[in-house]
Amino acid sequence: YAQRPRELATLLDDTSGFADRRALVQEDRVVTFAELGVLVERGAAALRARGVKRGDRVLLLGPNGVEWVVALWATWRLGAVAALGNITWTPGQVASAVALVDPVVVLDPSSVEMSSPPEERMEMTSPPDEDDPAVLIFTSGTTGEPKAVTLAHRAVIANLQALLHHGGRLPGDPPKPSTVTLMSVPLFHVGGLQQVLTAALSGSTLVFDTGRFDPARTLEVLERERVAVWAAVPTMVGRVLDAAAGADLSAVRAVTMGGAPVSPELRRRVREVFPGVSRGAGVSYGLTEAGGVVAAGLGPDLDRRPGSVGRPTPLVDVRIVDGEIQVRSPAVMTAYWGSADNPVDAEGWLATGDCGHLDEDGFLFVTGRAKDVVIRAGENISCPRVEEVLAAHPAVADVAVVGLPDGDLGERVAAAVVLRTACTEADLVAFARARLARHEVPGSWWLRTDPLPSNAAGKVVKAVLCASWPVASKISSCYT
Ligand code: ATP
Repeated sequence: YAQRPRELATLLDDTSGFADRRALVQEDRVVTFAELGVLVERGAAALRARGVKRGDRVLLLGPNGVEWVVALWATWRLGAVAALGNITWTPGQVASAVALVDPVVVLDPSSVEMSSPPEERMEMTSPPDEDDPAVLIFTSGTTGEPKAVTLAHRAVIANLQALLHHGGRLPGDPPKPSTVTLMSVPLFHVGGLQQVLTAALSGSTLVFDTGRFDPARTLEVLERERVAVWAAVPTMVGRVLDAAAGADLSAVRAVTMGGAPVSPELRRRVREVFPGVSRGAGVSYGLTEAGGVVAAGLGPDLDRRPGSVGRPTPLVDVRIVDGEIQVRSPAVMTAYWGSADNPVDAEGWLATGDCGHLDEDGFLFVTGRAKDVVIRAGENISCPRVEEVLAAHPAVADVAVVGLPDGDLGERVAAAVVLRTACTEADLVAFARARLARHEVPGSWWLRTDPLPSNAAGKVVKAVLCASWPVASKISSCYT
C-alpha cells in the first residue's frame, strides 16, 4: 500500500489478480470476482439512471447477500455515500433514518433489478476525495434519534490496511491461496463491512449464511463449504458450539469473536470443538465510531492474559483517561452525520465510552462500560432510547432500562417501570414492539409502584436497581 488508493471503488480493480476465484457464494449461487466487477458496473449504471451522483446518499436496506455487496460497490463506483440501514428497523425508525441522511434512493438490493444493459466501463469524471464520506453506519445512539457514524474513504481504507497487516499480509504480497470465510453477521454493521472488504482484497470467498441465525444451518454451511475463517459475536459462536456434536469442522482454522465480551471459557471451548483451531481462537474489540477493530489478539498471547482483547492493531493508538479507553487512528469517524455532537476531540482522540486498562506489554482489557447501552447478542441497544419510547405509554410514570447478565445473550434488555395506572406486561410489550426494533424490546420487566432508586440529583442509580432486581442472580458488569 505504498501507493495507497484514495477511494474505495478502486479497490475492486485490485481483485483482477484473482478474477476467476469465487468471490461470493449464496446458497447455489456463485459469483466470481470477474462477475462481481460486471454486476457492479451494471448496478452503478442502474443507480445513475435513478439520479445518484457523487456525494449523494444511497440507503441500503436489505438482507445479507450478493445484491447487497453489489449495491455497496456500485454506490462507491458513483462516488456516492452508502448509508447502511438496519433491516430490523420499524417503519418509524426507517422514516427517522431517511429524514437524517436524506437519501436519493432507498434500496432493498434484494428486490430491485440491478441489471441495466451492460455498457462501457464508466469513467469517473471527479472521483471522491479521501476525506469525502464513504459510508454511514447507524449506531444505537444515546437518545431517541438515530445517529449515523460518518466514515471517510481514508478511514475505511486505513482500517483495511491495519486488518490485512494484522493478518500477516504486507503491501505487494502475492495473493494468498483462496480461503473460505463465513459471513454470518449483519452487513450493515462495521464488522460485516470489514469482512466484505478484507475478503475481497485477499481474494477470499465470502459465503453467506442468510436468513435468521440458526445454529444448525450455520453448522451445515461450515461443513458443506469447508469454511476456514469465521468471525462472529460470542452468542452465535456459543450456540453453534452447543449444537456441534458430530459435525465435521476440520476445515475451520480461525474463529474470531468480538462485538461483546468474550470469556476465556468460550475460547477454550472453540479450541475443543474446532480441531483445526488452536492459535486461531481470536478476540477482537472495536466500535463503529473507531471505524471498526481497535485491538485484536490470538492464541498463547491471550491464554497468558485471560480477559484481554489483544493489542491495538497497526495505526491505532490507545490511551486510558480516567479509566476510559480512548482511541486515535486514521480510521476513526469524521462526525455523526448531521449532528454537532462528536466524541472525537481536537487532537483526534475518540472517547469510546468503554472502561479498561493496558498492561505493561500493551495488551488491552475491556472491563466495563461508561455508556448507557445494553449489548444483547452483539447488538448495541441504547437504554435512553428504549426509556424514551416506554415513557410515552400513558400508564408509565417512570422507567429505567438496564442490561442484566444472560448466559446466552451476554446481556438482556430489562425494564423497570413505575406504573401510574394499571397496565399489564403484555400491554407494554405490544406498545414497545410497535415502536422498537425486535432486539430492542425488553425481555424482562419489573412492574412496580414504588419509585426507582435515585441519587440526590434525582438520577436513577442503575447499579442499585440491578442489584435489587427480583430475579437477577448477579449485577451486570456495566453498572458496577
Ligand atoms: P459490530 O457492530 O460490527 O458488531 P462492534 O460491536 O465492534 O461491531 P459497535 O456496535 O459500535 O461495534 O459496538 C461497540 C461496542 O461493543 C464497544 O464500544 C464495546 O462496548 C463493545 N465491544 C466490542 N467488542 C468487545 C469485546 N471484545 N469485549 C468487550 N466489549 C466489546
